[in-house]
Amino acid sequence: MDQTWKKCSICKKDIPYDSKYYECSVSTCTGKRTGLVFCSVACWDVHVPGARHRPDAGAISMTAPSRRQVEYEMKMAEDKAAAKTPETRRVAIRPETNREDVETDVLVVVSKVKKYIKDKADMNTAGAVMDALTEHVIAICDRAIENAREDGRKTVLERDVPNPYR
Ligand SMILES: [Zn+2]
Ligand SMILES: [Zn+2]
Repeated sequence: MDQTWKKCSICKKDIPYDSKYYECSVSTCTGKRTGLVFCSVACWDVHVPGARHRPDAGAISMTAPSRRQVEYEMKMAEDKAAAKTPETRRVAIRPETNREDVETDVLVVVSKVKKYIKDKADMNTAGAVMDALTEHVIAICDRAIENAREDGRKTVLERDVPNPYR
């Protein structure tokens, strides 16, 4: 059975499931489209000169998902792709800032999320967290749209927004 989750973006060494690896703290390096992963801090160092990061960029120690988790997520993505109509992906984004590490299709305010986590727990936030949060925002908006549509309304109201945390 193949135990390789991904290969190191620099040295191409295998990164097995459930093992330690490193991500870049800059979201454009870890976003869905680029998705750089590193087997070691030494390999992370190698990508820095070309990436023109600010001096506070760093390598973040991560744990690769288990094989079962990856298979589950792949199945979920397939189900979602089959169910999705093209219009749900066309979301207009207001450009929040011009900072280089902000991806245009992120639907959360990156600086505010990072500040909240920093203030609350004194923790740093990996760039890819914004992609994960954006998936939640999109899923919740889609649900709210459905609820408003079922009511025959053209306006999404607060009560249309599902909140599983209450
Ligand atoms: Zn490597
Ligand atoms: Zn980077």
